[in-house]
Amino acid sequence: MNLKDTVELANGVLMPHMGFGVWQVKDGEEAVNSVKWAIETGYISIDTAAAYKNEDGVGRAIKESGKKRDELFVTTKLWNADQGYESTLAAFDKSLAKLGLDYLDLYLIHWPGTRLFKETWRAFEKLYKDKKVRAIGVCNFHEHHLKELMEDAEIPPMVNQIELHPLLTQEPLRKFCKEHNIVVEAWSPLGNGKILANADLKAIADKHGKSVAQVILRWDLQNGIVTIPKSVHKERIIENAQVFDFELSREEVEAINALNKNERTGPDPEEFNF
Ligand code: NDP
Repeated sequence: MNLKDTVELANGVLMPHMGFGVWQVKDGEEAVNSVKWAIETGYISIDTAAAYKNEDGVGRAIKESGKKRDELFVTTKLWNADQGYESTLAAFDKSLAKLGLDYLDLYLIHWPGTRLFKETWRAFEKLYKDKKVRAIGVCNFHEHHLKELMEDAEIPPMVNQIELHPLLTQEPLRKFCKEHNIVVEAWSPLGNGKILANADLKAIADKHGKSVAQVILRWDLQNGIVTIPKSVHKERIIENAQVFDFELSREEVEAINALNKNERTGPDPEEFNF
């Protein structure tokens, strides 16, 4: 396995198993540098969002990296305020222009909300059929949101990006997604940095001569979960990619699974209504 390793989405598109997240990365120099370091390190997949307000910087880094378009996998997300059919189409064009691209690899609905996601999804299906995006999906959808969306969807979502880490393992939702051929992607895989001092994880990390971050990311990979750690530090960007030279035992994977406390670092999609 390496950074070029992929999982296959329901439509056959290959998505890198590990990518680079850029939430809370400042637009301008910070975004340009960190995305460039990630690409130099070998990351192929970049995960941004209109709401992160750094699509400009991400786009600049992509351009300056000198990579061919088809060597990268670029994801962005539709913000809540832009849900609805026409507003989604307009927001997509804006994101694409900021990124300086002529197509996206993956477009995601950022949060379900309550009222508009079906209408929004019809616009996603149009973008997909028009070949402006290679794959479409959602974020933060619970099982009941997915069921409701799929009732009327012509094209089912290919990805569900959800908060997922050792304190929030999301096993029931992962099982549902697997049964419906929806790839699960972990956001805040490191618990937004807040779970890196966990003593149980530290003990496993010490046994392998690895960091807690590396153990968590390895746990994602061994569980078939797509993962997108974020850092603005070059040495951590490299460290987070050095997870292909060791393996967790079955017992260690199970011990990490057992750390689950259903503990969120971000909002609960149920309460994050708008
Ligand atoms: P992560 O779980 O990736 O953790 C990032 C934090 O951990 C930062 O504070 C970073 O600090 C620190 N960190 C990273 N690597 C290391 C390391 N090796 N050692 C020590 N500290 C480290 O957090 P995110 O919340 O950013 O989640 C990842 C990505 O998921 C986001 O960037 C975004 O793309 C996506 N996301 C999607 C959401 C959604 O609703 N769909 C919501 C939230 C995130 P520093 O940068 O200073 O190095």
